[in-house]
Amino acid sequence: MLNNSFSLGVSISSLLICVVNLIYTLILRRTDKIQNRLFMALLCILIVNSITGIVTAFYSAEATVEHGISALKMARYAYFATHTALCPLFFYYVSNVSFASIRLASRKIFLLSLPFFVTEFLALFNPVTNIVWSYDENMAFHREWGEYVIYLAAFFYFVLAFLIMMRSWDFISRKRRTALIFLFIMVAAGVLIQLLNKNLKVEVLAEAVGFTGLMMSVENEDDRLDIGMGFYNRTALSMDIGSCLKNDRKLKLIMIRIRNYDLVNRLVEAGETNTIADILSDFLKSVVPRYYIYVPEKDTFVLTLYNYNDRQAEVVADRISSRFDNPWDYGEYSIQLNAAVILADIPSQIRSTVELSYMIESPLPDEKDRDILKGQDLDFIMRRHAVEDAISRGFAENSYEVYYQPTYHIDGRLHGAEALIRMHDKTLGNLYPDEFIPIAEQNGLIDDIDEFVLEEVCKFLQTGVPQKNGIDNINVNLSVLQCMRPGFVESINRIVNRYGIDKKLINYEITESIAASDYDTLSHVIRKLRNEGFLFSMDDYGTGFSNVSNIFSLNFDVIKIDKSLLWDSEKSELGMVILESTIRMIRQMHKKILVEGVETEAQIELLKKLNVDYLQGFYFSKPIPKSQFIEHITEQHASRK
Ligand code: C2E
Ligand code: CA
Ligand code: CA
Repeated sequence: MLNNSFSLGVSISSLLICVVNLIYTLILRRTDKIQNRLFMALLCILIVNSITGIVTAFYSAEATVEHGISALKMARYAYFATHTALCPLFFYYVSNVSFASIRLASRKIFLLSLPFFVTEFLALFNPVTNIVWSYDENMAFHREWGEYVIYLAAFFYFVLAFLIMMRSWDFISRKRRTALIFLFIMVAAGVLIQLLNKNLKVEVLAEAVGFTGLMMSVENEDDRLDIGMGFYNRTALSMDIGSCLKNDRKLKLIMIRIRNYDLVNRLVEAGETNTIADILSDFLKSVVPRYYIYVPEKDTFVLTLYNYNDRQAEVVADRISSRFDNPWDYGEYSIQLNAAVILADIPSQIRSTVELSYMIESPLPDEKDRDILKGQDLDFIMRRHAVEDAISRGFAENSYEVYYQPTYHIDGRLHGAEALIRMHDKTLGNLYPDEFIPIAEQNGLIDDIDEFVLEEVCKFLQTGVPQKNGIDNINVNLSVLQCMRPGFVESINRIVNRYGIDKKLINYEITESIAASDYDTLSHVIRKLRNEGFLFSMDDYGTGFSNVSNIFSLNFDVIKIDKSLLWDSEKSELGMVILESTIRMIRQMHKKILVEGVETEAQIELLKKLNVDYLQGFYFSKPIPKSQFIEHITEQHASRK
């Protein structure tokens, strides 16, 4: 009697838990993914099992009367018919959550599902066979060997699910791991207790509690979703793709990068919300279900296509790409979006989550009439990977070298030099800074590179050779991140002091675009370093859109006018006006002017007329290795004497 009340209480508890879980799932509309549906199916099984538990407990006392007997038998039947499916379904659920391939060869699928079909058959035909359980003439319940077969099959699926989870372990978030482990422990404990003492019917309750953990941590995807947009975030993308790669799951990715994101966002003044996501949302959802859409960056959308062949994926990419030929309606606006569409295959083109990040972060190859980037167009991802490796091994393999490009007074006398980094990699050959500096800035190795350049320049100056041959100072490029870093001033001072170099021999170049980005920090850094005696140049002037009065209050010694201004002046009248007026303005501020990119005699004549101070360019010399540079300047110095 006591035993029956215990069973009744336990069954009612598990029923309540499962019903609440199901109601929440429905209210929160977590119902559209396969994973969601499997979860609901699992809950339904447990609900049926709880009800059969209640019926069994209720009628056990009436096992002598007719209707009691049939109720008990029906409850047992319903219990075994449904519960047998629980573990196979749970295995399917875990495979789904961890993106394990469900497109196995049919033979494998057959073998995998065989235990399920056999045991389900046993359970369904028990009334005829009495293989799983039976009641004797005294209405005492007996477990038969069939039940142990069912337990064995359940154990098989349970272990498989566990193995699948372990295989994808690295790509399961901590929250999910905890919930899954908790569930495994609960189920194992429940089964064990009930096996050891059949009066303690706690298995279903343990499972119900375990599934509650799943609902809170796996079905609840708040940490994977961008709440505002309703699409998955970057973490979710790399976890999911990581799992797919780990489980040999093939798929296609379509990445859409909105090239004019900033412009559009400013245009509609959306503030915090992601306008583009708003605009694209309905269209993207018409291409794939919402749970296949990710927004790893505010201007980047990724769609995952499972079970598409090359041709089908291309059709989808075409459809997306051509949609961008037409404007998009957004409130009162009609907006033209400029999108790059990339179609990539996993795993043949993206072989790791690192390469996935490259695809998301790397600047894309130049616009090609809004074509779709695919196949060999994606080599930039591998190139980027290769360059990143080369940067990392660069110091160990002595790949870096500092070249020098001389600069001249307008009358042709030597003035100084700019130090420019080069990289000679064993496999990739010679690399130029335009390619590897941006990558080094992203992976943090830029600090080491810039430090290396500064040390090389200090060593060179320490020899006294440049100074003896008419070099007033050597220019060193500073990168954005470097100057903004705390402790930057101290670290530069330390290096230069170590070599005992006169600080006015070093002239730091800072590009205009950096200067505009964080004016306050930069002005502080420059003031401190100028007090130490260092000189400063503004690099690439005329390429940014900076506030002119801010820039000039930074007190640079030299303004370097970008080569594009010089070259454009030869192409159009407007170009000439811009160059002339830029130079005139800087003159009026009493700053020294250097013009870069001088390649012809005609340009020199023009610049003489415009009255600039210094020149730099291939006309005089390309950047050259130190030894060659020494030859070059000693020769010129000697001929001047
Ligand atoms: P930048 O500071 O504007 O450097 C001038 C670039 O223009 C150099 O390219 C130089 O080779 C090139 N150049 C100079 N005169 C002429 C000319 O007459 N015609 C043409 N067509 N080009 C000319 P480089 O060496 O490839 O450097 C590219 C950029 O990489 C540099 O632009 C600079 O922003 C960055 N960089 C180079 N070395 C370093 C470094 O040591 N540290 C950092 N942070 N950045 C560096
Ligand atoms: Ca420079
Ligand atoms: Ca420059």
